[in-house]
Amino acid sequence: MNAAKRVYDNVLQTIGNTPLIKLNRVTADLPCPVYAKVDFYNPGNSIKDRMALKMLEVAEKEGKIKPGGTIIEGTSGNTGMGLALAAIIKGYKCIFATTDKQSKEKVDILKAVGAEVIVCPTNVEPEDPRSYYSVSKRLATEIPNSWYVNQYDNLANRLAHYESTAPEIWEQTEGKVTHIVVASGTGGTITGIGMFMKEKNPDIKMWAIDTYGSLLKKWFDTGELDMNEVHPYISEGFGEDFLPQNYIKEVIDHFEKVTDKDGAVMARRIAKEEGLFVGYSAGSVIAGLKQMKQHLKPTDLVVVVFHDHGSRYVGKIYNDEWMLDRGFLEVSTVRDLIGGLGRRRLVTIDEDAKVSDALELMKKYDIEQIPVLKGTDVTGAITQAGLFKRMIENTDVKDFSIGDVKEVALPLVEMDMPLERLKHYISKDNGAVLAKDDSGQYHILTKYDVLNAFSKG
Ligand code: PMP
Repeated sequence: MNAAKRVYDNVLQTIGNTPLIKLNRVTADLPCPVYAKVDFYNPGNSIKDRMALKMLEVAEKEGKIKPGGTIIEGTSGNTGMGLALAAIIKGYKCIFATTDKQSKEKVDILKAVGAEVIVCPTNVEPEDPRSYYSVSKRLATEIPNSWYVNQYDNLANRLAHYESTAPEIWEQTEGKVTHIVVASGTGGTITGIGMFMKEKNPDIKMWAIDTYGSLLKKWFDTGELDMNEVHPYISEGFGEDFLPQNYIKEVIDHFEKVTDKDGAVMARRIAKEEGLFVGYSAGSVIAGLKQMKQHLKPTDLVVVVFHDHGSRYVGKIYNDEWMLDRGFLEVSTVRDLIGGLGRRRLVTIDEDAKVSDALELMKKYDIEQIPVLKGTDVTGAITQAGLFKRMIENTDVKDFSIGDVKEVALPLVEMDMPLERLKHYISKDNGAVLAKDDSGQYHILTKYDVLNAFSKG
């Protein structure tokens, strides 16, 4: 039947058969076409629905879980979502252990689909009893009729991609695919797809994307599991601090590392320039592919895998303040700086108000200067330093009207002014500037905002 007309008995039947979508802008500098296997079209918004269902079906077949049993897993969210959906339809309970590095949204989403979630510390060794690996293993021994999924070493993980993801890519490209690029964590996706592709055509190149702070690339290049490679990182969903059993080295051709910043910046570009609201690792995949562009030629056909959806990262890579705090946003103009500060209320005072009102506002909002308005026009400023000088001269100043004591207005700067120039407007005597945005709204930039931008840049 025509796929679009098909009616489904339950949500699990909608897993897989995701679209392959050509990228038109973010990879325009590459010599060959690049298509994205956009797996956030799965019902749980990630590729992990495929392996979650497969692992559960295999466990049922092998008698590892009985009706009414409990599914236990250490998961960063996506696998949990897939397992939770399968559990709802098939009648199981779910308990997931995850780390405090994961976004709160991911945890709330898992709870929304009925799972119990235990949040464990990130920065402990996998063997530490507090780690999410250890906690999930312990629960599985304590809870009767429970099944510990262990996506890392459960080979049904890679089998799912061998049986579904890979054949779909093969058919969608009519066997013409030459390179496949995948962010790699458990190794299930890259290995499963790699096993299938190497059987079809051993010349197809499988490129895995790793991150700094993970030991996978060094293991691949040298065979060594070097714990000196391991440190906390910000990228989510891929990279590992140990070697999962799902990996088969022989079906992978190369590992490429991508920085936390490059992945995050590229994910935002994919959303803005391709209209695909992707997760963090999709950005890392494209950033890594572009690092490899000298190895591509016009006759190649690249397929990248986009694992999950941007909605899980709204408080992170899609939040300007989060990006700015980590030095991930290039701040080059007043507009960028204002965008990164988020919504801030501009405190102003009317010419007819009293100095005592201004002092109250300064105390309440902990601010040193207030623009003075007449109607909607900025006519001057009140500064702590100026008021202090006046108070020394005249103790009654509190009852003066603002119009009588106001100082010259804060300089008004253009939204497109480069930050390098903005620096010159901020001095000992002048602690802030104003900028008017396209909608006519005023914003204040203090010397602290400017200093912060330069210390992070
Ligand atoms: N990206 C995201 C967003 C993921 O959730 C995962 C799975 N942890 C990966 C990439 C890596 O996939 P795999 O575990 O199959 O190697």
